[in-house]
Amino acid sequence: MKKQFKSESKRLLDLMIHSIYTNKDIFLRELISNCSDAIDKLYYKSLTDPKIKVDREKLEIRIERDEDKRTLTIIDNGIGMSHEELEHNLGTIAKSGSLAFKEGLEKQKDIDIIGQFGVGFYSAFMVSKKIEVISKTVEQDEAYSWISTGADGYRIEKCDYDQVGTKIILHLKDDIDDESYSEYLDEYTLKTLIKKYSDYIRYPIKMEVTKHELVDEKEKKYEDKKEIETINTMIPLWKKKKKDVSEEDYDHFYMDQFNDYEKPLKVISSSVEGATTYHSLLFIPSHAPYDYYTKEYEKGLSLYASGVLIMDKCSDLLPDYFSFVKGVVDSEDLSLNISREILQKSNSLKVIAKSIESKIIKELTSMLKDDREKYDEFFKAFGTQLKYGVYNNYGMDKDKLKDLILFYSSHEAKNITLQEYIQNMKENQEVIYYASGESIDKIDKLPQVEQIKEKEYDILYLSEYVDEFAIGALQEYEKKKFVNICRDSVDLLSDEEKDQDKKANEENQDLLTKMKEVLSDVSEVKFTNRLKSHPVCLSVKGDVSIEMQKVFEAMPNNIPIKAETVLEINENHPICDKLKDLYQNDQDTFEKYAKILYSEARMIAGLSVEDPTEISNLICDVIAK
Ligand code: ADP
Repeated sequence: MKKQFKSESKRLLDLMIHSIYTNKDIFLRELISNCSDAIDKLYYKSLTDPKIKVDREKLEIRIERDEDKRTLTIIDNGIGMSHEELEHNLGTIAKSGSLAFKEGLEKQKDIDIIGQFGVGFYSAFMVSKKIEVISKTVEQDEAYSWISTGADGYRIEKCDYDQVGTKIILHLKDDIDDESYSEYLDEYTLKTLIKKYSDYIRYPIKMEVTKHELVDEKEKKYEDKKEIETINTMIPLWKKKKKDVSEEDYDHFYMDQFNDYEKPLKVISSSVEGATTYHSLLFIPSHAPYDYYTKEYEKGLSLYASGVLIMDKCSDLLPDYFSFVKGVVDSEDLSLNISREILQKSNSLKVIAKSIESKIIKELTSMLKDDREKYDEFFKAFGTQLKYGVYNNYGMDKDKLKDLILFYSSHEAKNITLQEYIQNMKENQEVIYYASGESIDKIDKLPQVEQIKEKEYDILYLSEYVDEFAIGALQEYEKKKFVNICRDSVDLLSDEEKDQDKKANEENQDLLTKMKEVLSDVSEVKFTNRLKSHPVCLSVKGDVSIEMQKVFEAMPNNIPIKAETVLEINENHPICDKLKDLYQNDQDTFEKYAKILYSEARMIAGLSVEDPTEISNLICDVIAK
């Protein structure tokens, strides 16, 4: 019975079949990479399941070409696929590679990205008019074939095949004017492609090649001989010396293995010998994966024990704050035959994880120092995660991360480090000022900002909701405390100004108490000297800021933690005299003013007004008077 592809797969398939892409070559890399994964899976299974016997020496990938039939065949002796797996794996885009491709397409609207990263099995339709997949698993005696000509669906049938593994027969498209598919039957082309894209595959990729051999020295007679040859060097990229690997090789490997359509921002390759010995090849992506900030995202590095893949995503190798790092670790100190649980507790693994962590910190630190532009790009993608790291686990890791985080500086109008803030502090400055809000623009317009700026102090603008929690965990940097300029206690006034402030509040105690009565949810109303041109502001007492209150409110279980708010009124603003006058002569209008001013202060602080209709009516009443 013929089956239809799932709709998403169909779209991708259409793109492949009618492909207008230039880089069709990559289909071979995709298929070989699948073969290698399948062999990894079988070998790993044999290590953990005594019933499965595998001779490691015999694991291989074979490429066969038939110029007469116009077929190119790729064979592996890996894990194979059952009927259900053929259906599930090849009938749907279930997997990372193809999904990432779709994402990339939608995001970039740039069809050329296809050549750049793993697009999976379907890419074979770029060069084939028909594909047959024949497969058999170790557990089952029957073999099945999956046959498709592309758009019109696929058919799965029982067939004869007695080898465990998968055989993929590509019936190449016919050549047309400017597109030659016959080149994929050419020995030299195939050899070049395998060397270019799949050299690091750790299993032999074998193909029959023609050897031009001298058979008679005297006569200088040559004869062509056919011979099976291993085309790839099989040295994994992470074991090669840095000088022998090009940037392009690393990029290809990253995009292929980790299904990204963009090159990595940074490649970190290292070989460590000593207490533990390991090779690692780590990548910092240039952008956060689409699911990075969701629960679905799984951190981890691929873990190899002496060249054998034992865990796809070993999460113990990365702390949460570096969960964006991708890569491979290969160590001879890890035993192949132990369970994952024991492995995860092994001391070697812990030592490797520690060493990897310091390596990443070191690399990021030098990127920050030597290539600020790149670091800014990195921080844009993953800075939030580092800030989480500062406050997670009760701030346990804050010292490792505090010099890697950036905040927006009002002085510099860009992101700076805390070190840079300290270096540029004014002589008499004792504390680090910060303000938080929804966006840099909005913070910059806060009434409280004006006075501090006038005194030429730099202010860190915190616009991400994790920011204040990170600052809270740090508490101080190089013995300088962090001070929220929206706290009512920020002390920047001269003694004279303080006296004036005190006097204004004492003299108008009744008026202020009355205002507080009218506005039931503020904890204090006071006159202030610190607002230059603005009439009112909302400040807070205590440790919970307005931005933190917003975060708590947004949490699913709505934690009822509220900021203690203070309505401050500029005692030098004409509105102040107006209030005094109304308090004496017109209580009704006084109350309306109080409510309007309070709503103004809330709006400036980015809080909603509880009853906007009431306030709007009050404003009209006052205007119409
Ligand atoms: P990806 O490799 O990114 O998962 P593909 O479209 O290339 O996506 O392959 C889909 C799935 O089909 C694979 O995840 C794998 O389970 C299965 N598969 C593909 N090729 C083989 C193979 N040669 N042997 C066994 N399984 C395979």
